Amino acid sequence: MDVHVVPIFNDSLETLNFIVLLYDITEIRRLEKVRTDFVANVSHELRTPVTALKGFSETLLDGALNDSDVLVEFLEIINKEAGRLDTMVNDILQLSKLEQRQDNSVKDRISVNETVDEVLKILSHKISLKDIHINIISQKDVEIEINPDHLKQIIINLVSNAVAYTSEKGKVTIEISTADDKLKLSVIDNGIGIPKNQLSRIFERFYRVDKGRSRNIGGTGLGLSIVKWLVENNEGHIDVKSEVNEWTHFTVWLPLTVLDNNSMRKR
Ligand code: ADP
Repeated sequence: MDVHVVPIFNDSLETLNFIVLLYDITEIRRLEKVRTDFVANVSHELRTPVTALKGFSETLLDGALNDSDVLVEFLEIINKEAGRLDTMVNDILQLSKLEQRQDNSVKDRISVNETVDEVLKILSHKISLKDIHINIISQKDVEIEINPDHLKQIIINLVSNAVAYTSEKGKVTIEISTADDKLKLSVIDNGIGIPKNQLSRIFERFYRVDKGRSRNIGGTGLGLSIVKWLVENNEGHIDVKSEVNEWTHFTVWLPLTVLDNNSMRKR
């Protein structure tokens, strides 16, 4: 709480009274802290791949180039770390774009089923590398009014996590249905699961249940925070349930029709 005391004077500059102004700055302070933590985390997270890139390339230049086995091994590490850096920079740029509402928000009426198909094409390499079986459950084609990029990003992030945190030959189910004028989209996998006491933290920026494992698979710890932001800024919500070493089940609820800026239904 910030307190400001403003004196009130009469014509002879004698104090007549005081006005006490109380400002609740809890939220402002909280947002300031979120921002400074974010900058500190970004710097820390970026430093890891940059250090690896520098270290491995310097070792090569110092002579390791001549050993062809070492050369291939180090180039693979450099390539992986550069890829991770690329994903992280893209995720950070996307978060900051979203927060500044720069892409807000060309809404269109689109098919959820077609968007899922599109996402599966984008992720087809990842999916076939691990021989993951994808199962789509949907009684009918569902249409929704939303920014198409938002829906696509939500599904990409959830399905790529489901694939990443599931062992080879695992199973990922995508369920599309509607209830009470809302889209219900579930992504279920039979992978490593998430401990119950960490379920509430996985939507935080840079939070990872197992940092080592997430890094190895190229994770940035930003995917779910982007999903949560997108879902909530489209008036929806997201739930997660999980059983360690058995399954993880994310459900996204989104209104099928949104109110536009003039509070008029588009259709
Ligand atoms: P990351 O880039 O590390 O995957 P996310 O924000 O997408 O970051 O996810 C945060 C953490 O939540 C992950 O590091 C992982 O520990 C956990 N997680 C997310 N999805 C799943 C899943 N389907 N199964 C198991 N753990 C998951």
